[in-house]
Amino acid sequence: MKIAVIGTGYVGLVTGTCLSETGNDVICVDINEAKVKKMQNGEVPIYEPGLDLLFHRNIAQKRLTFTTDLAAAVKDAQIIFMALPTPPGGDGAADLSYILGAAKDISKLITDYKVIVNKSTVPVGTADKVSAVFAENTNVEVDVVSNPEFLREGVAVDDFMKPDRVVLGTKSERAKKLMTELYGPYVRQGNPILFMDERSSELTKYAANSFLATKITFMNEVANLCEMVGADVDAVRRGIGSDERIGKRFLFPGIGYGGSCFPKDVQALVKAADESKYDFQILKSVMEVNERQKTILVDKILKYYKNDIKGKHFALWGLAFKPETDDIREAPALYIIDALVKHGATLSVFDPEGMENVKNIIGDKVVYVDNQYEALKDADALLIATEWSVFRNPDFDRMDEILKNKIIFDGRNLYDLEKMVDMGYYYNSIGRKLIG
Ligand code: NAD
Repeated sequence: MKIAVIGTGYVGLVTGTCLSETGNDVICVDINEAKVKKMQNGEVPIYEPGLDLLFHRNIAQKRLTFTTDLAAAVKDAQIIFMALPTPPGGDGAADLSYILGAAKDISKLITDYKVIVNKSTVPVGTADKVSAVFAENTNVEVDVVSNPEFLREGVAVDDFMKPDRVVLGTKSERAKKLMTELYGPYVRQGNPILFMDERSSELTKYAANSFLATKITFMNEVANLCEMVGADVDAVRRGIGSDERIGKRFLFPGIGYGGSCFPKDVQALVKAADESKYDFQILKSVMEVNERQKTILVDKILKYYKNDIKGKHFALWGLAFKPETDDIREAPALYIIDALVKHGATLSVFDPEGMENVKNIIGDKVVYVDNQYEALKDADALLIATEWSVFRNPDFDRMDEILKNKIIFDGRNLYDLEKMVDMGYYYNSIGRKLIG
């Protein structure tokens, strides 16, 4: 099939590349000229494990191309995907200007039937709005399909190639047929393609992300309580996770959810509910608790140093909002840096993939170093904000030699408590016994 994908971010580039992998001809469009040039030169502009292999293979076979020219991209496409940003507007509601703007541009270019697929996360009613834009600007028949994306950064290629489910919101039989054909190769194991109306499909995505954000937040609160009552959150996690109704996944406590999706999607759902005069109380609490949790490590540090960290120097391991991505949008590490610097501390930071992106946002507010051990030089304590595998089994002998003090504030519970006792560390983690 001939496919156009508008927007080549984490979702668009993975979508375009994975669709070309099953033999489709895919043209990806972006307004960012530098990014398009990079891709045309064979460079993957984001860090996403496994993406480069598929990217290069399909470019070599000329099934995957990149352009800034929207007209050329949509001309022969049977299906046009929109994978555009939907950032929070000033009031927290999703800003639909990218989607509606692109819909308008596309509507003025097409001359034959197209399926317009919205992959972005959008509020209920967006498919209707997009359809209205087309109706206003063209007589050409289109079907607008809601197809929310559930991929997780870090395992996005696997998630796209073998999705748990594909959700498609459309009433059109013609669009259903085309979309079933397109997604067939990805659900061969029997995972479902779930057809539904557009509104249910749009809400499914917000409900999924909000549920997951709630699950994380619930565990963070349990962890905070564990610290107060002398329980161990790891034991509690295992105790509840083995109940199939609860499940083992997404029960790890930490320093709050971040990333480009959960914060904005929870906020957008609350806002959409408000607009419908529904008070979505549980999600309001989730937002409030998460705000607090993002700086819980800072609270622990301030308590330890009796509110005086002026002149202290910290090593920070981890900047990305989660491992295996270079995405630092809404990363808890950024909030920690901000708070510590405001209190007069300095930091040396290391992240395997997120450093460039952080540099672009906060510049020389911190010192960037080339490896995790270099960050420890002259540090009063080590702080851990992202659970990259490379931090899980570090060379503690080497650390002992470099660190000024054996002090770790761990926002991701990476180390065994007994080991920390044996090695003589002060070790402050989340929802577990304080060591030292
Ligand atoms: P992103 O910011 O990484 O990428 C968006 C891309 O669109 C950028 O490259 C930008 O230059 C481009 N763009 C903007 N306006 C354009 C236009 N008019 N024409 C062509 N290109 C244009 O965004 P993302 O993380 O890929 O997210 C896209 C959507 O998917 C959002 O709604 C998001 O909520 C949703 N989503 C994201 C994820 C994720 O993990 N990142 C997962 C599921 C759903």
